[in-house]
Amino acid sequence: MKRDKAIFDLIEKEKQRQEGGIELIASENFTSLQVMKAQGSVLTNKYAEGLPGKRYYGGCEVVDEVEQLAIDRAKELFGAEWANVQPHSGAQANAAVMLACLKPSDKILGFDLSHGGHLTHGSPVNFSGKLYQPSFYGVEQATGLIDFDKVIETAQREKPKMIICGASAYSRDWDYKKLREAADSVGALLLADISHPAGLIARGLLADPMEHCHIVTTTTHKTLRGPRGGMILVGKNFDNPWGLKTPKGELRKITSLLDSGVFPGTQGGPLEHVIAAKAVAFQEALSDDYMEYILQVSKNAKTMADAFLAKGYKIISGGTDNHLMLIDLRSKKLTGKQAEEGLIQADITINKNMVPFDTQSPMITSGMRIGTPAITTRGLKEKDVQKVVDLIDEALQKPEDTKHLKAVKRKVNRFMEKFPLY
Ligand code: PLP
Repeated sequence: MKRDKAIFDLIEKEKQRQEGGIELIASENFTSLQVMKAQGSVLTNKYAEGLPGKRYYGGCEVVDEVEQLAIDRAKELFGAEWANVQPHSGAQANAAVMLACLKPSDKILGFDLSHGGHLTHGSPVNFSGKLYQPSFYGVEQATGLIDFDKVIETAQREKPKMIICGASAYSRDWDYKKLREAADSVGALLLADISHPAGLIARGLLADPMEHCHIVTTTTHKTLRGPRGGMILVGKNFDNPWGLKTPKGELRKITSLLDSGVFPGTQGGPLEHVIAAKAVAFQEALSDDYMEYILQVSKNAKTMADAFLAKGYKIISGGTDNHLMLIDLRSKKLTGKQAEEGLIQADITINKNMVPFDTQSPMITSGMRIGTPAITTRGLKEKDVQKVVDLIDEALQKPEDTKHLKAVKRKVNRFMEKFPLY
């Protein structure tokens, strides 16, 4: 077969882009070479509908072992009793959970997208807002924090069948105990989507949702540093007091309903090559090296927030407990779009982001979201993070001046040479 030069040249170009720049998108990371090797393997050739030991195809003996290892390691990593590692992504994991646990037009209560929530938690443009009836809780305007007593009040007013917690751009920890109180007071299921802080939760740096939430979903590619993908976890809530039934009207354990929500509910054949890569990443996340890494992610985020505050930037909620922060750029007379477009010219990648109670549209926004998982994988420590903030601030002094941004880009590329990627 002729080598596909066009694609492999583009892959090389993307590698150079990743190597030369400062990656601050809070949801991105760099996987290890062995994660990539597992994903780029012969396992991509195999069909394996079903679960380990219960497949609809022959020849699954080896992939059964692969998937079982991924399940066992996921359970160990999160202290879960049960896991399904097949969801192709975080959105797929949430779709499977909702399909398994809700009926069309059931009420759901999620964290407001414009305050930092995710599309799959009830946005009108997403299946979750189209198939179910969403209502939302948000942060307080004065503090940028969620008032969990108010969430209880909202739940009691709205009476949802499911409460969803977790976010894409919330820099503080969650009170899962209070959220469970909210859920219990109306007989709702509590779903925690820990896609963003999963790695910090796994290694005990943030509150543990497994204890209080009926179901936990996550992506595997953000702080967890695995391949792109999703998974569903359950702690000790195997029973089904809500009387949830299969489409045939059978009462089953919640975990069995969740398995069916993934396959055949929302997916076909699992991606066993990705599941193998997930297994590798889970083993890595259980290691001492990863513990050191994830502690550094947290330290770098706190250092970064302090450095931005010292330069007069406004951070929503005043700081961070996790790996990210949301910066309100209005005090600097900038929009998120201006910042994103200016910084990319200096090879610094962030994303524009709505801030709570934003006065700009989602395409413009008043804020930027910044995270430390990827730069920490590159090896940056506190003093380097200070330098990153200096470079961002320098670029944002003249975010529309191409010559100025080119000069910053040269500094960025030189600086990142000290932190080889692969
Ligand atoms: N849930 C949350 C909280 C997220 O932040 C994201 C992605 O950003 C997702 C779900 C969706 O994940 P994916 O892009 O893998 O579908």
